[in-house]
Amino acid sequence: MTTGNGSDDIRPADQDIDAPDFDVVVGGVGFAGLYLLHRLRGLGFSARAFESAGDVGGTWYWNRYPGARCDIPTTDYTYSFDPDLETEWTWSEKYATQPEILRYAQYVADKYDLRRDIQFETRIESAEWDEEASIWHVRTDRGDEVSCRHLVMASGCLSMPKTPDIEGAERFAGEVYFTSTWPHEGVDFTGKRVAVIGTGSSGIQSIPLIAAQAAELTVFQRTPNFSVPAHNGPVRPEKRAPLEADRDEYREQAKWSRGGIPFPLAEFGALQLSEEDRLARLDSALEAGELFEIIGVFNDVLINRTANEVVADYIRDMIRSIVNDPETAETLCPTDHPFATKRPCLDTNYFATFNLPHVRLVDLRKHPIATITESGIDTADEAFEFDAIVYATGFDAMTGALVSVDITGRDGVTLKDKWAHGPTTYLGLTTVGFPNFFTITGPGSPSVLSNMMVSIEQHVDWVADCLADMREHGDTTIEPTETAEAGWVQHVNDCADITLYPTANSWYMGANVPGKPRVFLPYVGGVDVYRAACDEVRGNDYFGFRVTGPAGSRCNDGVVRRLQPDVMMVLDLMAGMDLPPLESMSVEDARAFVVAMGAQSPPGPDVGEIVDGVLPGDGGELAYRLYRPPSDGPHPVVAYFHGGGWVLGSHDSDDPLCRDLCVRSDAVIVSVDYRHAPEARFPAAVDDGFTAVKWIADHIVELGGIPGQLAVCGWSAGANVAAVACQRARDAGGPDLVGQVLLTPVTDSDMTRGSYVENADGYVLTAPLMQWFWDHYADPDDRTHPHASPLRADDLSNLPPALVVTCEFDPLRDEGVAYAEAMAAAGVPVRQLSARGHTHTSLTMVDVILSGAGVRAEISEAMRQFFGASVPA
Ligand SMILES: Cc1cc2nc3c(=O)[nH]c(=O)nc-3n(C[C@H](O)[C@H](O)[C@H](O)COP(=O)(O)OP(=O)(O)OC[C@H]3O[C@@H](n4cnc5c(N)ncnc54)[C@H](O)[C@@H]3O)c2cc1C
Repeated sequence: MTTGNGSDDIRPADQDIDAPDFDVVVGGVGFAGLYLLHRLRGLGFSARAFESAGDVGGTWYWNRYPGARCDIPTTDYTYSFDPDLETEWTWSEKYATQPEILRYAQYVADKYDLRRDIQFETRIESAEWDEEASIWHVRTDRGDEVSCRHLVMASGCLSMPKTPDIEGAERFAGEVYFTSTWPHEGVDFTGKRVAVIGTGSSGIQSIPLIAAQAAELTVFQRTPNFSVPAHNGPVRPEKRAPLEADRDEYREQAKWSRGGIPFPLAEFGALQLSEEDRLARLDSALEAGELFEIIGVFNDVLINRTANEVVADYIRDMIRSIVNDPETAETLCPTDHPFATKRPCLDTNYFATFNLPHVRLVDLRKHPIATITESGIDTADEAFEFDAIVYATGFDAMTGALVSVDITGRDGVTLKDKWAHGPTTYLGLTTVGFPNFFTITGPGSPSVLSNMMVSIEQHVDWVADCLADMREHGDTTIEPTETAEAGWVQHVNDCADITLYPTANSWYMGANVPGKPRVFLPYVGGVDVYRAACDEVRGNDYFGFRVTGPAGSRCNDGVVRRLQPDVMMVLDLMAGMDLPPLESMSVEDARAFVVAMGAQSPPGPDVGEIVDGVLPGDGGELAYRLYRPPSDGPHPVVAYFHGGGWVLGSHDSDDPLCRDLCVRSDAVIVSVDYRHAPEARFPAAVDDGFTAVKWIADHIVELGGIPGQLAVCGWSAGANVAAVACQRARDAGGPDLVGQVLLTPVTDSDMTRGSYVENADGYVLTAPLMQWFWDHYADPDDRTHPHASPLRADDLSNLPPALVVTCEFDPLRDEGVAYAEAMAAAGVPVRQLSARGHTHTSLTMVDVILSGAGVRAEISEAMRQFFGASVPA
């Protein structure tokens, strides 16, 4: 180790000459670095932290602008690792100010005597992995060179200020301030003409206080932001009570909550409530003055545009009610992004500040800055003179501080290069090619979408535990595998894709930094879900990591989250209900159960018209329900058959799916009930199916259809009915069918295929349940008949073009694939679509499992293609 200016040689006394100088080097000492040092010391690791700032505190050291406060209640935004610390420290306000939070960080540093492991005013400039020695070589801007076994960057998500890219910025001769590096001695704006550029959190917090001092204040706004009043003051008794009653329980709830604060999830979506109820809930959320209250006021705010608009409208109305000048009010109303897809703000008198006579708002969208001059700011149509300019222009978030350090991993690859197209991590903690390298609250973890204190503690604990585990086993390196990392990146994207977040040009997306790749950076799946994944990885011998130890390298490889996030959520909910397996019920009870579950499902989209009717079947009348699209007819027609193992279900149970397919495909859907087993066993269902197809073909004009434009579709056992109808229509010389859509079809009675084995006990449709269905439906001898197992037909040629949809976690997956392959081999045009991360039932759960919408869109597109040009686009 060599040391630069002012640093002490603090190599542990008994260290081997070949051993690294430290077990761990830590980059940055905000709340993350502080707690990490404490944990490492407790575990007996040697550690050295480097910090660019002159003291601890990170965010709260740098951001000293007037009005700087947290926006998570301070009773939640606080360490929980030591009950003594919690009793010793009392927060004075609901949202403490920056000086108070900084004092807290300093108190923690003193209490645990952490400063002796920290070298201040020293920035880590580079770090290089030494493959031979399995150590990192770290260099600082003060000439230090130290080696360590592990490098942990606790460098902050919002610690790299964004440099303003405004023409002429360097020419301004007056005072220049950045909210992110505010002078320690404070600034007096009394009597001055001040410009503030930027209306994100820092701008919104500082503008009212700057206005209170300045002679004139001009605010330059590019993007208006949603902000609600903080209603700051003493900590509310109802907030204090649960914490004081049972601190441990409260903190435990926070750890297993969605956002890191104990907060009940809303039971209702905005659109499920009456106008009156909606308003009442919004009023009370606004009154609470907490971000989580207003973001979580309805359970669909971040996933449904219409629901989101309800909240957005409400806040815009609030802005209009505060701001006197209508034009200024409109300029302050955010309209270019859904509510909360950019971080919303909490404020104190922000909007009212624009009623003051000396405060003016300039809309940069209408009047962009042409240049900054020596004396002020010129827009295209006006020249402004200022004494001071304040930049509240934000951060290069989440990745900025990491890639600004020259971190070189294996094979000379730098982190900056590896992440050139967006960061890829495993769990937001580690990244392939960078052994023994960890990031605290890195991209791909909940971080900035959560109460950061909870996320920081969780990450630090995970890293500290990992290092302790490695030491216990004598391991030297740990690094994620490509498979695990790619799987995690996919999961992070899957989580974001079912929300409205990616629709906004936000710093969550990297959109505030020119040239930064557009990737959704944080993990939106929730603190609780995330923690469970991290725990699972550790509990499963570092699943997805390659660990090198004395006995060589070991790797328990795989993808920790393969289910779609919303599928997982529904399965977890169901598991929590502890429902009896369907196959343990009587047929009557199972049917009643399916009806009861269906009654709780969202209804699906509105269609143009619904007509219930009956058609003649072989064993009596068959009920059907016809869905007509809103567009002018006539339309192509799809004969649809519901799922339910030939035993359960009806056109009611598949109603939302039929509505969805109708609207998306612009076709009439005729959903026909067929006789059920065990009352009517094989071949009653398929006989009814074929009879219904013939009847629909014969009556297509009366049904509002186009002659010759008839396809079939079915789900599960209904897909079996549809597939058999296609074979029988071919064999009987008609009716002509233009296509078949088979959604997770039953095509065979062989229950030994790989997908049966893999998913035997899993995901709603289990192997025992399928056995129960078969037993009710068909005698063993009948099951191999092609009308029960269409895959077994001697001839699969000359069938209508097919789309076969299979789901990854479905016992029926492999027989669906086999049927698609067999039809294709027989010359039938076939597309086989594999729904990643889905189960047998998930694609049908309209407006519950949003990740299924894309697959249903593809199904509908296939239908449109079957019908060719006759369907309006
Ligand atoms: C104004 C503001 C308000 C916020 N309010 C909230 C809130 O209410 N609730 C919430 O959950 N979060 C809030 N945050 C997010 C906040 O960043 C985190 O809550 C938390 O403070 C982050 O702690 P940290 O230790 O991870 O990072 P930081 O506090 O950012 O500390 C990182 C430290 O690393 C140092 N560093 C970086 N790179 C290097 C290097 N190469 N070498 C040496 N040192 C380096 C930096 O100087 C910095 O001191 C806020 C952020 C800002 C900017």
